Amino acid sequence: MASVTFTNVSKKFGEFIAVADFNLEVRDKEFLVLLGPSGCGKTTTMRMVAGLEEATSGDIYIDAERINGVLPKYRDVAMVFQSYALYPHLSVEDNIGYPLKIRKVPPAEYKRRIAEVARRVELDTMLSRLPKELSGGQRQRVALARAIVRTPRVFLMDEPLSNLDAKLRTQMRAELKHLQHELQVTTIYVTHDQIEAMTLAHRVAVMNKGVIEQLGTPREIYNDPRTLFVAGFIGSPPMNLIPGEVTNGVFVRAGLRVAGLGRANISSAVLGVRPEDVHAAGAEDADVNLVAPIYSVELTGENTLVSLQLGGQLMTLRADKNFAGQIDQRIGVKVATDRVFLFDGGTQYRVD
Ligand code: ATP
Repeated sequence: MASVTFTNVSKKFGEFIAVADFNLEVRDKEFLVLLGPSGCGKTTTMRMVAGLEEATSGDIYIDAERINGVLPKYRDVAMVFQSYALYPHLSVEDNIGYPLKIRKVPPAEYKRRIAEVARRVELDTMLSRLPKELSGGQRQRVALARAIVRTPRVFLMDEPLSNLDAKLRTQMRAELKHLQHELQVTTIYVTHDQIEAMTLAHRVAVMNKGVIEQLGTPREIYNDPRTLFVAGFIGSPPMNLIPGEVTNGVFVRAGLRVAGLGRANISSAVLGVRPEDVHAAGAEDADVNLVAPIYSVELTGENTLVSLQLGGQLMTLRADKNFAGQIDQRIGVKVATDRVFLFDGGTQYRVD
């Protein structure tokens, strides 16, 4: 059983505030993802839990125990780093067994636990190899095995999949998900990859400039973004964010016109709509929201991404894989009005 609680935690490096008044409770057995762009303070937050950085102010608890100032080795957390941090001169077996060795686990138990974990991550035939004799994915599994060989109170994972190629990353993502289900250990996972966050997390904390912009389940964050930042960060390809003006409930920008919006008048508005909620239509069709020239057509396999020129920016829609339009051809689009988000361009908060 372990929850991790941050209360008013800040971390400064000199005058620079890397983490600002951070409040979060990671629940027992929860897989919580800290998601955000490079430099937003994710790693620093995690390193404070590991004891590799000390908070400048505020308190961090594991369950009821305040851990500020507690030496890393007494915190009972296991960390998996992006670089794996394996010992190059030690075999796979000794790398995995390292946390047991420093805890002076007796030899029979040592062997038994390594064998069990190695089987779980499918390294049982490679125990005598050195890290340099392994592929990236295998090294990553050694790092994971080393973290799970004893059951810590908390797992901390800092972009553990980012050095893997796309195919292996997808495969390891599924393995991590399965492992979490089996082990049921509270996990804080850092990534800037929103797909990883969406697929792995029970809850996601979207971070920006040292603060949490939004905390919620992947579905909440995707369907109900509270700020422009969250709206633009989650989703691939990202949500279309189009600045314009709302007058009497009608949004207008260049040739785009979307009616039926709740708020009567906003002078500096941003309309947000996901590519899957914009649909191609004929240029002559009635009630299209926009007629514009095609800028690019990209077949992804399962569908086609079509970008249109709209007053100096692009508007992307996800069309059928058989989409036949050509660059420069003018097409109509219909926007699913009930799936549109409206933001205040000044405050950056959602207004509708
Ligand atoms: P990334 O995804 O690139 O790892 P991150 O969100 O994990 O980014 P952090 O590593 O937490 O970001 O860094 C947050 C900010 O604090 C960055 O601007 C970074 O330059 C700064 N920072 C981190 N460690 C130090 C340090 N030891 N000294 C000074 N500044 C630091």
